[in-house]
Amino acid sequence: MSKTSKIISQARLEGRKVLLETEAKTICAEYNIPVTAFELAKTEDEAALFAERLGFPVVLKIVSPEIIHKSDAGGVMINLKSTVEVRDAYWKILENAQKYNAAAHIVGVLVQEMAPQSTEVIVGAVKDAQFGQTLMFGLGGIFVELLKDVTFRIAPITHEDAVDMVTGVKAYPLLKGYRNTPPADIEALTAILLNTSRLIMDYPEIKELDLNPVLAYEKGAKTVDARIILE
Ligand code: ADP
Ligand code: MG
Repeated sequence: MSKTSKIISQARLEGRKVLLETEAKTICAEYNIPVTAFELAKTEDEAALFAERLGFPVVLKIVSPEIIHKSDAGGVMINLKSTVEVRDAYWKILENAQKYNAAAHIVGVLVQEMAPQSTEVIVGAVKDAQFGQTLMFGLGGIFVELLKDVTFRIAPITHEDAVDMVTGVKAYPLLKGYRNTPPADIEALTAILLNTSRLIMDYPEIKELDLNPVLAYEKGAKTVDARIILE
């Protein structure tokens, strides 16, 4: 049985529709969608050990089925440069989560590699009542949220569709390189779209998928946050 099937069955068994970031990223990795390296810490000592193993700087995040928007809960701390900072952040994140939702069940604190800053893009999927599995692409921040500058295609998509999705957003010139923003690896982004298409076609029980953000580099791209919601 694939890791993806196991994760989905386990979530179903526990009556959960929202997969944890650890689960969503394990699924992404199985579909060759690049994600940040991560380890789930259950204690402060583990957080420190994992941070040393991954190499500084690292990012710490809350993992709880009840906390979907982690930054809203003070559950994301980036650019932690030392063991001392990691140990402090571990407790701060747990404290913030407790304040945000005292009833939230805490699975642990995710320690992950800090991806270098770059242009942020969003890859999404929704199961449309009429069209079925549908893919979305856009640039992060104001481009999607404020300007609704996104492209959609019904899955499954071809390589040509994927290229059209990336080049079809109004903000595309930013991806081609603009002033001090280097050009993004368009092939790496189209590969993520194609692999996401494969994933949602293989698992029609995926109702929503959000890779938000994916950092686009001159060479390659990396998903730093992934969310999957089941039907
Ligand atoms: P949320 O649940 O709030 O969407 P995210 O995991 O997306 O939480 O984290 C919030 C922001 O922190 C991201 O949009 C990104 O800018 C930054 N971030 C998160 N993880 C990483 C990482 N591993 N490397 C670099 N930046 C990160
Ligand atoms: Mg996010």
